Amino acid sequence: MIIVITGLPGAGKTTTINEVLKRLDGKIEIISFGTEMMKIVQDRYGIQHRDEIRKKLTPQQIEEVQIEVAKRIHEYANSTSKLILVDTHAAIKTEFGYIPGIHDGMLRNMKISAFVYITTKYEEIMLRRVRDATRYRDEEDKVEISLHNEMNLAVLSSCSIQTGAPVKIIVNRDGELEKAVNELENYILKWMEQK
Ligand code: ATP
Ligand code: AMP
Ligand code: MG
Repeated sequence: MIIVITGLPGAGKTTTINEVLKRLDGKIEIISFGTEMMKIVQDRYGIQHRDEIRKKLTPQQIEEVQIEVAKRIHEYANSTSKLILVDTHAAIKTEFGYIPGIHDGMLRNMKISAFVYITTKYEEIMLRRVRDATRYRDEEDKVEISLHNEMNLAVLSSCSIQTGAPVKIIVNRDGELEKAVNELENYILKWMEQK
């Protein structure tokens, strides 16, 4: 079973998922879509850092890699009884415009049970990006973040319509990580009961 976790850069996807993994270790597995893409694009295109992927590749190159990764995830999900959480993005900002992180070609190769959207106030996201020195995220103002948010929800709506899978929205407010982790853990447990 695959659950896809999305959210704006800096919304707290990886942080929340890692905390849930500590609680459900052995029952779930996390696949970072960006890490899987890096394994391919490092050699193929000489990409050095994960934040370069969306800046240095064309939409066509990204699409090819997306489909390769989606197929690998699908094969892996079929080989395990663990629930797979995919840490990824709904819409990716590139110099060509927003590109979908999930689209028809991927949905045909990967069966997804649910989509999760992790979000919070735009001001909090702006500050998290500035404070997190481990990444090269864009510095964006509230209008830009709001537009990205709208694109993310548009992609998720479309994926939900195409697949029938629900979209669960979790708010990860500053200083309330545990609340978001509890919500995601409970959501995953609900899906595990369906297995
Ligand atoms: P990306 O899409 O760029 O990988 P992300 O959604 O995975 O981003 P994280 O790396 O998990 O984001 O978090 C970004 C920063 O925000 C980190 O420094 C993290 O510690 C911080 N952060 C996450 N959640 C909270 C929270 N509830 N309160 C305060 N800081 C938080
Ligand atoms: P992350 O660490 O989740 O931000 O992932 C690193 C980078 O991988 C992102 O900035 C994107 O360029 C790329 N990436 C992650 N998921 C996808 C996806 N579904 N489609 C295209 N690119 C993606
Ligand atoms: Mg992350």
